[in-house]
Amino acid sequence: MSFDIVVIGAGPAGLCFARSLAGSGLRIALVERQEEAALAAPADDGREIAITHHSQRLLGERGLWARLREEEVGTLRDALVLDGDDRDGLMFRHDEAGKSQLGWLVSNHAIRRAAYEEVMALPEVERITGARVGAVRTAADGVEVSLGGDETLRAQLLVAADSRFSETRRAMGIGADLHDFGKTMLVLRMRHDMPHEQVAWEWFGVGQTLALLPLHDAHTSSVVLTLPPPAMQALLALDDAGLEAALAERFQQRLGAMRVAGPRCAYPLVGVYARRFVAERFALIGDAAVGMHPLTAHGFNFGLLGQAALARELRAAVAAEQPFWSPALLQRYERQHRLATRPLYLATQMLAGLYTDDRRPARVLRKLALGAGARLGPFRRLVMSGLVADHAGVPGPLRRLRYSRPSA
Ligand SMILES: Cc1cc2nc3c(=O)[nH]c(=O)nc-3n(C[C@H](O)[C@H](O)[C@H](O)COP(=O)(O)OP(=O)(O)OC[C@H]3O[C@@H](n4cnc5c(N)ncnc54)[C@H](O)[C@@H]3O)c2cc1C
Repeated sequence: MSFDIVVIGAGPAGLCFARSLAGSGLRIALVERQEEAALAAPADDGREIAITHHSQRLLGERGLWARLREEEVGTLRDALVLDGDDRDGLMFRHDEAGKSQLGWLVSNHAIRRAAYEEVMALPEVERITGARVGAVRTAADGVEVSLGGDETLRAQLLVAADSRFSETRRAMGIGADLHDFGKTMLVLRMRHDMPHEQVAWEWFGVGQTLALLPLHDAHTSSVVLTLPPPAMQALLALDDAGLEAALAERFQQRLGAMRVAGPRCAYPLVGVYARRFVAERFALIGDAAVGMHPLTAHGFNFGLLGQAALARELRAAVAAEQPFWSPALLQRYERQHRLATRPLYLATQMLAGLYTDDRRPARVLRKLALGAGARLGPFRRLVMSGLVADHAGVPGPLRRLRYSRPSA
């Protein structure tokens, strides 16, 4: 079977990319190992995604935002960062940013469902689900993807969106810097007595990191707890009543009693940054290119940004009747996405290291960092610009470079 583009992976990045190319004239094969039913009704994976203003606009332009139900969208009005037993912490307020809120919170499975519904309506996208990708080959004359048996897909360009542990990236011989933080993150929806008042918390304690993400209901939040794997295993062995008591205790009863209201989902914390995002007739998008630590809540936001940048380049090439697989085009995408993501990726790795290190020098350093952050206007503005800017939040010359191309 022949197409213009083969995309491997129908997660949020692959689906949004296919949607971004709608109406471009390009025919796309979207290859996914999960069955169609799992794409149409994605399982609740516990993740609540903090959406920036820029991402909200991109989702709106692609029709996804309108497909979210009212109860699936939480308001992220303000954010509070706490260290140890500090009662005041560092507050990032929406009004300082001149916005009615810092961002939104949307469940990952709701984003996946909305993206699937949009893509399902596109005649130019053929979904190949329940697929087992075999060999992939890219060469000057085109791309071949073997699906086992006699079936081979042929195209002009191959795009991999098959997660941070991308098998396609590996098959293409592209290495990645992979950092295993040696910690496990539990995400769990909980109801609690005290209202969350639409404030997200990030709370760095000794031996644990806690976060609270406010959902649509005033008494329901996503609890995010990071622990060393043995401590997490012990916690996950508790029954619901035991887990509720343990979490209320970890939150120092600040939210009153807490009750489990969703599945327990645990993730190993691994950051990944691909050494290259492109090769001959090949590009990486989503977590396959940049797999962020969730601390700064930017994995999907970056995935959305990257797929939009690549789609914009492809559309411009098609409109100009130029080859959409040209090395120059792919290099432009690589440059833009690296500039957009590398600084925050490195800063997140550093912060994640600092805030999960309980040795005394690290604890002193983060107290100092939070204290300085509370006083210094430029620091606060930098953090907030990442959330509320209607672009991707990288100031000055970098932004001009990234946004020098016409919009898709
Ligand atoms: C706990 C947690 C909290 C997070 N919070 C935030 C947040 O607040 N804000 C934010 O922006 N991001 C957040 N993220 C990150 C965000 O969830 C990811 O960046 C995003 O889901 C990545 O999407 P993706 O499509 O690139 O990859 P994935 O979601 O991993 O999807 C990859 C798809 O490819 C398919 N696939 C894999 N291999 C193959 C193959 N060989 N053949 C065919 N198909 C294949 C898979 O089945 C899957 O459907 C969080 C992540 C975690 C773990």
